[in-house]
Amino acid sequence: MELTRSLLDALLDSLEEPIYITNRDGRIVQVNAAFEHATGYRAGAALGETPSALCHERHGEAFWSAVEAALQTSGKWSGTVWHRHAGGQEFPTSLSVRTYPAEAGQSAGWIGVLRPHAATPAAATAGAATGRDSLTGLPTRDLFLDRLEQAISAAPRDRRSVAVIAVGIDGLTHINDGLGYEVGDELLGQVALRLQQSVRRSDTVARLDGDRFAMIMPMRADDDAVLVTQKVLDTIRRPFTIGGADINATASMGVSIFPTDGAVAVEILSHAMSAMSFAKQSGRNLCQFYSNAMNERAMQRIRLETQIRRALATGEFILHYQPKIDVETGAVVGAEALVRWQHPQRGLVAPGEFIPAAEHSGQIVPLGLWVLREACRQNVSWQTLGLKAIRVSVNVSPRQFWAHDLVDEIAAALRETGMAPAHLELEITEGLLMGEVERSAEKLDRLHRLGVHLSLDDFGTGYSSLSYLGRFPISTIKIDRSFVRDLERNRVTAEITRAIIGLSRGLALEVVAEGAETREHVAFLRQHGCHMVQGFYYSRPLPPDDFEAVLRVGFLRPEVSGSGS
Ligand code: C2E
Ligand code: MG
Ligand code: MG
Repeated sequence: MELTRSLLDALLDSLEEPIYITNRDGRIVQVNAAFEHATGYRAGAALGETPSALCHERHGEAFWSAVEAALQTSGKWSGTVWHRHAGGQEFPTSLSVRTYPAEAGQSAGWIGVLRPHAATPAAATAGAATGRDSLTGLPTRDLFLDRLEQAISAAPRDRRSVAVIAVGIDGLTHINDGLGYEVGDELLGQVALRLQQSVRRSDTVARLDGDRFAMIMPMRADDDAVLVTQKVLDTIRRPFTIGGADINATASMGVSIFPTDGAVAVEILSHAMSAMSFAKQSGRNLCQFYSNAMNERAMQRIRLETQIRRALATGEFILHYQPKIDVETGAVVGAEALVRWQHPQRGLVAPGEFIPAAEHSGQIVPLGLWVLREACRQNVSWQTLGLKAIRVSVNVSPRQFWAHDLVDEIAAALRETGMAPAHLELEITEGLLMGEVERSAEKLDRLHRLGVHLSLDDFGTGYSSLSYLGRFPISTIKIDRSFVRDLERNRVTAEITRAIIGLSRGLALEVVAEGAETREHVAFLRQHGCHMVQGFYYSRPLPPDDFEAVLRVGFLRPEVSGSGS
């Protein structure tokens, strides 16, 4: 049977993959229906054009010369090419090109077969030529890819990897349909702002289209992409206030990393996007890593999360209490409740091993509430025994802090255990307050009105912006252990510590030094006006019975003297 023109047309149109054929001059002479559909170009518009004219200009002359050279030597070429839709948007495709022979044995032209990486853009969405999205002011996909290309080329020199995080806002259609496009647009604007706030200023945040954003983050070896993604998920999870009403949104995220997950910008972005789609399918409000290695880590975390859930149900968590001591008298003036996991196989597990996972999964909220209630219950029971009434401190994690019912839960815990609010202290970290000053101030004020004390934990390790000390009703500052540890070795550290103590006293704040391990530490702190200390020099965190014994005496002799433990 002879291959007639109409048979060829029918054959090409029956294929699902977009195909074009060029003549010897590299001009398109034939496209199939799938090509028209994917690119939005009708045959009439595409015929006579060169394939490069239908692609993004990021593929410059050098790129197409390389393709041509490959075709001349080996007769084929394949790689990722960004096609431009007739509507203006570009989309990545895997392009395979082969030459086909003319009668005389010479190459007569090319046959190009496209495999779009994702759904091709709908027609009529005109591309933004400015590089900036008009709604959010963020870079568009074009500019994003340019910057990603730059980041990738700089990465090996700076010994960095580059993470691309694709973020899809879940349920935007729902919001648009139910509440109107103005609300949807406002939401996107606020999301854009929060995404920018959750990364370093030098990192790029872009709006790709509709409800999809992406971020470029150059990373050092010890940077943890998991932490960043968690931060972003949390940022989005907090309610948005639009027109006076609270609106909840969630995000699905996909991460891919140069060089592990791809070598060129388009590839890395497309992998991040597929990871994001996968996250969306497997239940919203999730993050998925493209690479298997990362998924293995994510899997471990999920296993841990399952175990934590079980441990909460079976009561495997316990609290230890570390005394806070007045260095002038040796009197026990308070205690910090520190959670431990009494694991049936692993024994006593330290919080550093499970708090991050609990924070990630959200189980920190029920776990934190358990800690709070247990600490109150225990403290009241000591008071009932007639022991000295002390203030017990409980750590509140960021996720817990932002839970909408934190204040109510604390009020309920105090009411139900019968503990006086003045005997409860909440330790929060300064990072939590940054970027959300208004909302934090409002929440802290509500807690303050409840009558509980508020202290700033790990002071000096975060932004240590002093301006907020006056804005928040905080009564205590806890100097981070890292300062105390280096007091003798590092003069700058010693100076900073002195300054923090002076500042706190100037602002009439209590100041507690964490991690005092030696007599020299205590002497320094005391000499410079810090009279409250929590550290191994006096005592490690103790099981309730041991702490009770300490409380009966009411005073502590140093546990170690001279050198550290
Ligand atoms: P943190 O709140 O800063 O608690 C102080 C940590 O420093 C405790 O570690 C304590 O054992 C340790 N420490 C105290 N004095 C010394 C010392 O002299 N030398 C040394 N090397 N370490 C000292 P721990 O119990 O392992 O807790 C670590 C962190 O886990 C806590 O840091 C806190 O951020 C978190 N955490 C503990 N319990 C809870 C909890 O119930 N809820 C939340 N959200 N976080 C908790
Ligand atoms: Mg603490
Ligand atoms: Mg601390």
